[in-house]
Amino acid sequence: MAGIYIHIPFCRHKCSYCDFASFPDKIDYAEAYMACLYKELKMRGEELKGYTFDTVYFGGGTPSYIPPKLIAGAMKQVRKCFTLAKDAEITLELNPGTIGDTKVKVYKEAGINRFSIGLQTAIDEQLEDLGRIHNARDYVYATKLLTGENFSTDVMLGLKGQTKEDIRKTIELAHLCGSKHISMYALTVEDGTPIYTDYLNGELPDSDEVAEFYEYGYSLLKEKGYERYEISNFALPGYESKHNLNYWRRGEYIGVGLAASSFMCGKRFTNTFNLDEYMKCIISGFYSAITCDDVNENQAKFEFIMLGLRTKYGVSVKEYKAKFGTELGEDFPVAFKKSLQYFQLNGDNIRIKDEYMYVQNSILMPFLEELPEEETE
Ligand code: SF4
Repeated sequence: MAGIYIHIPFCRHKCSYCDFASFPDKIDYAEAYMACLYKELKMRGEELKGYTFDTVYFGGGTPSYIPPKLIAGAMKQVRKCFTLAKDAEITLELNPGTIGDTKVKVYKEAGINRFSIGLQTAIDEQLEDLGRIHNARDYVYATKLLTGENFSTDVMLGLKGQTKEDIRKTIELAHLCGSKHISMYALTVEDGTPIYTDYLNGELPDSDEVAEFYEYGYSLLKEKGYERYEISNFALPGYESKHNLNYWRRGEYIGVGLAASSFMCGKRFTNTFNLDEYMKCIISGFYSAITCDDVNENQAKFEFIMLGLRTKYGVSVKEYKAKFGTELGEDFPVAFKKSLQYFQLNGDNIRIKDEYMYVQNSILMPFLEELPEEETE
């Protein structure tokens, strides 16, 4: 399986917690940027002729902020330059404050068949605190436009003043509006973002409270029929995100656009975060990758374990042996023994027990510590 990620770095307003490659004041660059992006798609398409891609994902930034014809144009270029599977999953991230019926029509005609909506919270004061441009009513309106479509909703935990009741309202709203998939994740506070001051002032819920919110949200989602298939991702049966599953299965993907990351042919590489540099490189016929690392055998083993254990599918010991020619338990004897109490073993399959999923990072730490040092550069 392989995926294509396309980054659209424009937003109407910078959110107070945002550390992503996104610009609130550069929409005038959108056409020129997309012309470069079409060119990069062509360059990558020529290199990847033998591949069939199963997913396309427009992320950002706010892909729904730029004129929809530019998204349609990108899809046209993708089809021209790459081979897509017949049932390819094509997702577009959408901000509820930037959507209307004409846009939805253009997206559907372009073949977008999945939408990911950034609701974050159904409480308007919290949305305002986050610097989001939408309110809960905008979300309801957006979901009405998407009636019958496959869409996912983002829900955020750890907001200033947030209570369990707020989380209940948010999850219920997403459910009632027809969300087939919910991503529920904790706010990450990055140094240098405006929300960092709230964090320093102790105004945000601490990690114990967030863990409690998570368990509460998880129980509500379970009640409503959403199954957890990854630590932060919950889906009604059959609505798991294929694009993200490909990441967690160590599938290959090509990232196109500013700051986009790729994993192809055993290498992980990332494009520049500088908009001018990105455009100059592409115009001159070069890629803008600023990092490119070979993934060595030991790193690949760790990635296989770490990514697989994030999901409900876990890892297969047989598959590990088939891929690497060695035994998982022998490669990581100390970590394996330490973590055994947290694992559920089923035939050749290992997964983290349900009750320990939230603390998986600490369970995985011993595996990272056991990676031979000389090969982790
Ligand atoms: S909409 Fe997303 S990418 Fe844009 S500023 Fe807000 S958090 Fe950042």
